[in-house]
Amino acid sequence: MSLQIVQIKSTAGGNFSYLVFCPRTREGMVIDPSFAAADVLNRATGENLRILLVADTHGHRDHTAGNRRIIEASAALLAASPLDVPHADIPLLEGSVLRLGEETIRVLHTPGHSPGSLCFLLSSGDLFTGDTLFVTKVGRADLPGGNPADLYRSLQRLAALPEATRIHPGHDYGPLPTSTIAYEKEHNPYLRCADLEEFIRLRMA
Ligand SMILES: [Zn+2]
Repeated sequence: MSLQIVQIKSTAGGNFSYLVFCPRTREGMVIDPSFAAADVLNRATGENLRILLVADTHGHRDHTAGNRRIIEASAALLAASPLDVPHADIPLLEGSVLRLGEETIRVLHTPGHSPGSLCFLLSSGDLFTGDTLFVTKVGRADLPGGNPADLYRSLQRLAALPEATRIHPGHDYGPLPTSTIAYEKEHNPYLRCADLEEFIRLRMA
């Protein structure tokens, strides 16, 4: 049975947190608790879930701020890239697989916004893109550890996923809360750059 996805927006920063759960086993995972830990926990209680995992798309504080609160309330394990979050219980690398209920979640290492930025891909074609890809925008590449050439390659890789892939971004920065790879290829100027040089000019302007 497909995993269900609840998108929860923080009042601070326009961050999106996600509660992902198996409707049959009631096992849940929180992606980027951000500043919404209380809301996420309320939803999890309302849905009668056991939170088994907290997964960080990357190590920036606006995404990880609620980690501890969720973990203390649930005994969940923390899964993240060791490049961004050295103390994670489950170090995630390219090709790592997480299990939730009867489903598996594939980990894509997509550096550029930060060295350890990850995307999480469900078998349903839902993709959690953190600060790598937003609706009509992409993450910054000028923060410490950022690298615009890496970001370009990571975005090229996401753009090569099936067009129906639904993206669930780390912030509410676009005209819609979620979109698809097809939509982004049409409307996201950063995915429409002819080459790396054009991308760097646009992103680092
Ligand atoms: Zn970030």
